[in-house]
Amino acid sequence: MQNFVDGDYLDAGDGVVFDKVSPVTGLVDARLREADQSTVDRAVAAARRALDGPWGATTTSHRAALLRRVADRIEARFEEFVAAESADTGKPLRQARELDVARAVANFRSFADTVAAAGQTSFITDLPDGGQALNYAVRRPLGVVAVIVPWNLPLLLLTWKVAPALGCGDTVVVKPSEHTPSTATLLAEVLDEAGLPAGVYNVVHGYGPGSAGDALVRHPGIDGVTFTGSSSTGAAIMAAVAPQVRPVSFELGGKNAALVFADADIDATLDGLTRSVFANTGQVCLCTERVYLQRPIFDEIAEGLTHRARALRLGAPDTDTTTTGPLISHQHRDKVLSYLTLAEQCGATTLVGGGVPSMGVALDGGAWIEPTLWTGLTNRDRPLREEIFGPVAALVPFDTEEEAIALANDTDYGLAASVWTRDLSRGHRVAQRMRAGVAWVNTWFLRDLRTPFGGIGLSGIGREGGERSLDFYTQPTNVCVRL
Ligand code: NAD
Repeated sequence: MQNFVDGDYLDAGDGVVFDKVSPVTGLVDARLREADQSTVDRAVAAARRALDGPWGATTTSHRAALLRRVADRIEARFEEFVAAESADTGKPLRQARELDVARAVANFRSFADTVAAAGQTSFITDLPDGGQALNYAVRRPLGVVAVIVPWNLPLLLLTWKVAPALGCGDTVVVKPSEHTPSTATLLAEVLDEAGLPAGVYNVVHGYGPGSAGDALVRHPGIDGVTFTGSSSTGAAIMAAVAPQVRPVSFELGGKNAALVFADADIDATLDGLTRSVFANTGQVCLCTERVYLQRPIFDEIAEGLTHRARALRLGAPDTDTTTTGPLISHQHRDKVLSYLTLAEQCGATTLVGGGVPSMGVALDGGAWIEPTLWTGLTNRDRPLREEIFGPVAALVPFDTEEEAIALANDTDYGLAASVWTRDLSRGHRVAQRMRAGVAWVNTWFLRDLRTPFGGIGLSGIGREGGERSLDFYTQPTNVCVRL
């Protein structure tokens, strides 16, 4: 797989070639050319030239129409994207269809609507001398934007950033995760088919530190960084861009809580918790890793969730019955397994899972792990304080509403929370007090793309979504006219 710069896949380059390994089998399934400094330089220079060229003079309606064509083109090649996303991540084809690629299409359509509808307020200022001034603001593109994304929902998260950036007239240099480069590369073809000029979308492959990611965020030619990934990488990127004082938008990790009250609809809650703990093998930033249960229903929910965890079907992505894929890599599995050991050391009781499953000869080389639930841990234990990013959760009892809120908010993160209750007043009351960028009541991962999305504390800086994205991907210029 090659880097994509100035409208072309580069034939070669000075960067080394590295292997990409299938998370399903553990075998090498692609080879990538790492973008070295000179390739990153070329990509940033191409993005700058494109910004200064005709792309910089395009109208909002032109760009909105282009975003809609991109959505159509992704739909026309839907199964190709599904296959590529599933091959990179190991996720079931069904999930790639229903979530990842479907959301990529929705991202382009939604941001086409958002940029087309965005208006500006103007106002008249009364001056001390009796005169007046007319004030309004125009949105100018932020410029050349570095887009760095992780491996868990690669196309979904990439297009969540690329669609508004292009809609606002920016140009981008994208660095997908070293584990999941395929759909970002394929998107280059689709953007070209839709009529995007050369240099507006560029892809550089490689790792973070000492590689393409670090070279990109330190590059003096970029005007801002939008990043989704872990909190520690966010901190490293912030330090790297600080000397040049560039704006950043960070969507980082989570340690999300579910609060289940005794009056909750048990079946609906179990459905919701099963999704929120185990979806994408627990590798969604919004996944629940802390489940607080009011004491009268503790045993019933623990038993029901254990039963549902046992019913999950780990398997190959193209098997119809598969619900759950592997983790992304052996390295990541080692991290998750270290928390399984730690939980035992902290005195946890493992209700289900707790190890590596036997998958048969063809799949045993993959990064498989058993869905796991614990009881017996408290908020003081590291497995409840640190993001694990696997199909694991700890179940903890509580007695009162105040106690539940205090337990849920006792975290350095602040991305998402979900509240499960039939008492809607309580649902509103508790949701509003969550230290979280999004608080759901009786649902999870229900997203309207116009709403602000982001996190508090270690979970990020800024908000994207709808008009909030326009705020990041543009720079306002206030025009003041003396009348
Ligand atoms: P990561 O931070 O290891 O890597 C993310 C991306 O950053 C990759 O492309 C990587 O190559 C690059 N990178 C790493 N170090 C870099 C550096 N020093 N400079 C520039 N680029 C660098 O994250 P990951 O393991 O790929 O993804 C999982 C993490 O992402 C989890 O913490 C998860 O919660 C988070 N996440 C957050 C959201 C959100 O919206 N808040 C969504 C999805 C994932």
